[in-house]
Amino acid sequence: MRKLTGIFLLALALAPAVPAQKSGIHREDMDPSCKPCEDFWRYANGGWIDRNPIPPQQARWGTMAVMNEKNRERLKTILEEAAAAKQPAAPHIRQIGDLYAACMDTAALDARGVEPIRAELDQIAKISDLAALRATLTRLQMTALAPASLFALPDLKNSKEMIANIGAGGISLPDRDYYFREDQRSQKIREEFLKHVERMFVLLGEPQDRAAEAARKVMAFEKELAGAMLTNVERRDPYARYHKMDLAGVNALTPNYDWREAFRLFHLPESTPVNVSEPKFLKKLDEQLTAVPLEDWKTWLRWRVAKNAAPHLSKPFRDEDFYFSSTVLTGVREPLPRWQQCSNTVDRLLGDALGREFVARYFPPQAKKRMQEMVENLRATLREELEKADWLAPETKKNAIAKLNAFYAKIGYPDRWRDYSGVEIRRDRYFESVRSAGEFNRRYQMSKIGKPIDRNDWGMTPPTVNAYYNPTMNEIAFPAGILQPPLFDMEADDAVNYGAIGAVIGHEMGHGFDDQGSKYDADGNLREWWTPEDRKKFEERTACVIDQFNTLDVGEGLRHNGKLVVGEALGDLGGLTLAYRAYRRSLKGKEGPVLDGFTADQRFFLSFARTWAVVDRPEAMRLRLNTDPHPLPRFRAIGTLQNMPEFHKAFGCKPGDPMVRPPEKQCRLW
Ligand SMILES: [Zn+2]
Repeated sequence: MRKLTGIFLLALALAPAVPAQKSGIHREDMDPSCKPCEDFWRYANGGWIDRNPIPPQQARWGTMAVMNEKNRERLKTILEEAAAAKQPAAPHIRQIGDLYAACMDTAALDARGVEPIRAELDQIAKISDLAALRATLTRLQMTALAPASLFALPDLKNSKEMIANIGAGGISLPDRDYYFREDQRSQKIREEFLKHVERMFVLLGEPQDRAAEAARKVMAFEKELAGAMLTNVERRDPYARYHKMDLAGVNALTPNYDWREAFRLFHLPESTPVNVSEPKFLKKLDEQLTAVPLEDWKTWLRWRVAKNAAPHLSKPFRDEDFYFSSTVLTGVREPLPRWQQCSNTVDRLLGDALGREFVARYFPPQAKKRMQEMVENLRATLREELEKADWLAPETKKNAIAKLNAFYAKIGYPDRWRDYSGVEIRRDRYFESVRSAGEFNRRYQMSKIGKPIDRNDWGMTPPTVNAYYNPTMNEIAFPAGILQPPLFDMEADDAVNYGAIGAVIGHEMGHGFDDQGSKYDADGNLREWWTPEDRKKFEERTACVIDQFNTLDVGEGLRHNGKLVVGEALGDLGGLTLAYRAYRRSLKGKEGPVLDGFTADQRFFLSFARTWAVVDRPEAMRLRLNTDPHPLPRFRAIGTLQNMPEFHKAFGCKPGDPMVRPPEKQCRLW
């Protein structure tokens, strides 16, 4: 009797306040035949992985790709409605509708062939001296196709000020090492690249033998540039990329090119400070202006223009570009459906116009509020962790807490939407519309130089399934696109939300203290705020993770480059640790509910592992191991959990189990 009353009372008391929350567990997605302490990734995701082979249009497939696909479906609805909207529609609706419709009209693209870039190619053909070459390189700044591109970035040592930067580029393969590596796969890619460039020249109307010769010239030209570039590991050190100077200083590096021309193009005052990220590269490029025969420069410029335009030209160009960029490099068998390509293009070029519609329909204000609460709970947790971190000197601790307090959190979407009224979109002129939007955006970016930084600026569009930390603005950002199930589920219990989006929040916060982020202070300035002893201890912690990823076998004898992935791996480790403690903190000393036969801790870790239910094609996996600072998804789960005693306890894993690193080798960030 008493018991019944008790249940009744409990139901009465709890039902209105706590609606039934999903456990977040999908047993059919797991593989119970695999032991959690053997391979937790497989245990948590094996069922899903087996049922969901990589679609022929994708290089990688998994949780975030499925979320992305769902967001794309939503964008499709918005774009189809916009394209069909009766006049007078709101201007931004008309723009996204027109650009989408123009993109979908492949018959019109095919009918135009190479015509959209004909004028540009003719201009290149007319180059007859160094002055004309210089003028062309300046003009290419507008489309960011010049090998050394100007861009706006805060001064790394005075982050309140946006200054001009000159980057290093101009290569077509994914990374400079692709021009030099001698392994079989790299040699094969270079062979395919030569054939690809050759076929592209044939499409431009070049006879076969000359096309083959042109391809060799392009390769030789790019190899020279690649040889002067920093490696992707060297580039991780912000000090290696910081060389601030004035315009005269830049011009002293490039006796053959006057940067005043490029400054004029974007109306930059000559007093604008410049950071040359790779002076060695810039010098080399300048030498090439006179060392490389003019005809070879022209060959490369034609290639550059055609390659960049190919996805927006007729079918033979689109197919050729797809074959090399997707099939050869990543193993993808079929292009994305046209509507997905088009929604991606609109998202990339008119992100705010499309994003505001996405947010209005699919991102309720309650979602933003719950996310804000989680961010603040993680922040408070990290503050406590830093306060009790006995390995840090008081001074370092104080600086770290100041940095944490200053983290600026962006959630969902920008406060103000950009106005694209300067962009000219015509349904019968797809290529020109893409260029108009591209140039408008380029001018917009460049116009930031000389102005104070703008907190309203986002590095990703609202439907994007991703998040970021920006060290110079000391901010973490979570677009609405990632704040969707299963990563963020308004109907799910806290354990699964902390394991998924909580770990993402922690990951981005962790970037503030990784191998790169730790070099920036609370104001986003590149400044050493660690005592020398603490820096040394911090580097021991990072060395632990570097060693772990250097030695993890990812299959076929392949390994990660620990120094390349260390920042992301530290973000994962610090992030999950933090999310776990924040979850425990949110329980205020109680235990979380057992649901569907799993404890709250178990569901937290299962939810984390599900985020990384992602598989790459073998080609894409190799590309990522060479270029991606993120570890492979499977090892983001395994590598992180191997270091966490909280996980070992939740699943009863013992020393010697594959999911347990020997205690003396377990890595920790905090
Ligand atoms: Zn990251």
